[in-house]
This record gives sequence, structure tokens and C-alpha cells, in this order.
Amino acid sequence: MARDTGAACRRCRREGIKLFLKGDRCYSDKCSFERRAYAPGQHGQARFKKQSDYAGQLREKQKVKSMYGMLEGQFRQYFKKADQQKGVTGENLLIMLERRLDNAIFRMGFASSRNQARQLVRHKHILVNGKKVNIPSFQISVGDEISIKEKSRANPLINESLDAVERRGVPSWIEIDRAAYKSTIKAMPNREELTMPIQEQLIVELYSK
Ligand code: SF4
Repeated sequence: MARDTGAACRRCRREGIKLFLKGDRCYSDKCSFERRAYAPGQHGQARFKKQSDYAGQLREKQKVKSMYGMLEGQFRQYFKKADQQKGVTGENLLIMLERRLDNAIFRMGFASSRNQARQLVRHKHILVNGKKVNIPSFQISVGDEISIKEKSRANPLINESLDAVERRGVPSWIEIDRAAYKSTIKAMPNREELTMPIQEQLIVELYSK
């Protein structure tokens, strides 16, 4: 499936926030945003001026899209489904994004970025309830057991990510059994544990025009 492959660090600088798209590099002093916290391009340093309501809504949507590595068409489909569900559309949208298998793998610490998690899923390193699943958009449910295929457990990227996961923190809806390379979904992801500053209402306003 197609995905957004634009230069990751440029996207952080464009949105004016660290989106943590490059794994360990994001937590080191090699992070471009730490050194140049302004938008790329000739007029980048003038970016953080007052913007119109529309521009603010658009940037918020782009930010969340980039975080989860999605293209416009896919993102719009998520929004449509979120809007059809009961409850608050913006929250529904974020919960659906959090329930993606690639995001769950990242949250569990099996990968250091969502991009790396997507590769693990596509390359069939991941089991859900004992069965291979290679669809990054697969929606996880309460009670699901997500594990690393036995042959893949020596993969250094997975082990390094697991070593580093404490730095990021693991949400309360996940229970990790590090020794068994296994995690269980204890509850649905919740809005409160999304610590990135996201104003999902702006995305709802944008798509409701
Ligand atoms: Fe963003 Fe990570 Fe690049 Fe820093 S290193 S600018 S957080 S993608």
C-alpha cells in the first residue's frame, strides 16, 4: 500500500513540532528539529507568525497524518468512519489511528518508530493471537495478544527498541511480557494518554466545511 515517504525531519520542521518519525535519532542530539526549529525553505524562519483559521486546521490535519504516516485518501476514510461512529468524531478518529497494528507495535516498543513498525508487520514478523498478520492498518481489539514470530526474536532492531521503550513510556492499555516478546491489549486506547499536543477538533472543522 502507498504511504507518505517525504523527508521525515522536514515534516517535523514544517509542523513546528517533533513528530518522532525516525526512531532513536529523534531522542538524540542528531534530531534536526533540536538544531533548526523552524520550517524548511527560504522563508522558513518566518513561519511561526499568526495564521488563518483554515491554515491552522490544515496544519493540524497534516501533523496527525504525518505522525501516523498516512496519505490523504486513507486519512479521509478514517475520518468518514469516525464520523459514522457514536461519540465525539475527533476522539473516534484518534482512537482508530491508535488501534492500527503498526501503531500498537510502536507503542509496545517492538519498533522505534511507526515506520519501522510498519515494516515489521509487512515483512511478517508479527503474530496476532498466534496468526501472521501483515496488514499495518489491522485494528487491534481488547484481549488481542501480539507477539514477535519466534524466528524474528533475535532481530537487533526489535531488541534495541525494547531496550529503549522505557524512555518513551508504554500506555496503560498495553501489557508487555518482554521475556516472551509478547504484549496483550488490556483495554481500548484512550484519548488522555495521547501526550502529543493534538487539537482534533480542528481536523473535524476542516473536513466539515
Ligand atoms: Fe522529527 Fe525525529 Fe527528525 Fe527530530 S529526528 S526532526 S523528531 S523525525
